[in-house]
Amino acid sequence: MQISSSKPLLSSNTQEKVLTGDRATGPLHLGHYVGSLKQRVELQHRFDQTILVADMQGLTDNGHNPQKVASNILNVVADYLAIGIDPSKTTICLQSAIPALAELTMYYANLVSIARLERNPTVKSEINSKDFGRAIPAGFLTYPISQAADITAFRATLIPVGDDQLPMLEQTNEIVRKLNSIAQDEVLLECKPLLSNVSRLPSVDGKGKMSKSMGNTIMLGSSAQDISKAVKAMYTDPLHLNVNDAGRVEGNVFFTYLDAFHPDIEYVAKLKSHYQKGGLGDGKTKAILEECLQELLAPIRERRALLLSDKAQLVSILKVGTEQAREESDAVLRRVKAAFGLNLF
Ligand code: ATP
Ligand code: MG
Repeated sequence: MQISSSKPLLSSNTQEKVLTGDRATGPLHLGHYVGSLKQRVELQHRFDQTILVADMQGLTDNGHNPQKVASNILNVVADYLAIGIDPSKTTICLQSAIPALAELTMYYANLVSIARLERNPTVKSEINSKDFGRAIPAGFLTYPISQAADITAFRATLIPVGDDQLPMLEQTNEIVRKLNSIAQDEVLLECKPLLSNVSRLPSVDGKGKMSKSMGNTIMLGSSAQDISKAVKAMYTDPLHLNVNDAGRVEGNVFFTYLDAFHPDIEYVAKLKSHYQKGGLGDGKTKAILEECLQELLAPIRERRALLLSDKAQLVSILKVGTEQAREESDAVLRRVKAAFGLNLF
């Protein structure tokens, strides 16, 4: 599979710039697909879009196991290409190979208090779920600052994310306002989120958000057997014991997935009312969902495997994008340093 990776410097004449990214902590999953990836495929035709493989951020809770991050970088790139992100339209770059991002993080860190970081609701709930206690790595507590560096370094204004990222964007905008007030100039731009209609896909067991770190995912590259197993294990309505019982649709993960993935909305509405009345068994409905997921993922899985068979090509795509990203972020770094008066030479 030959892929062109050279993106014209200005791919669009619109002023909005799009930036998103994913931690390189595992292959991407259905939550990424509906929460952000699908939108990115469409956005790349309308905006100048950069996508960051966030390997440094992946290390913030994997310092003891860096191989997990290193080994997933190309998996994430293959996932992007397999779902239709086109490197001739989107800059795909690697966070650890862009020094300005780490430098900006250090400058911004002086504008944020520890108390503010600890109040960040996403960080708070991640700290609890990871059982860090006082052993929380400093890099993890401060990762919202590094996300602010990622977003501002590319002068991005539109961020397609899941709802877990909203507190990060809020913190980014606080940093932007502080820096601009120090500089008395609009050095950095504020950003806004772009939420999809499924901004938090639950895990199959319904216990929380589908997430790489929780090991509760259906991956874009999952085998047909794994998809089948996951759908069969899916949380439905625990009180729906017999086919003829009336079933609950609200809070029923199975229907959340049908809403997210089934192309025929009217058909799903009919299934819901049948389920609510009684007479529709979990087995039958699960078969419908399984068919729909198998159809969606089979071609992605195939393309992904083909892409991963040529790792040199994936590395080269990432390198071209990273070089372009370095130029853009160096320019912003110079302006931020100047805002602090650090521009002697
Ligand atoms: P980790 O567990 O390592 O944090 P993750 O599965 O949460 O991994 P991230 O790399 O943190 O994935 O998130 C990348 C992007 O995908 C973010 O914009 C995030 O909001 C979005 N996203 C992740 N999981 C979901 C989900 N279950 N539903 C919707 N969007 C999601
Ligand atoms: Mg996450």
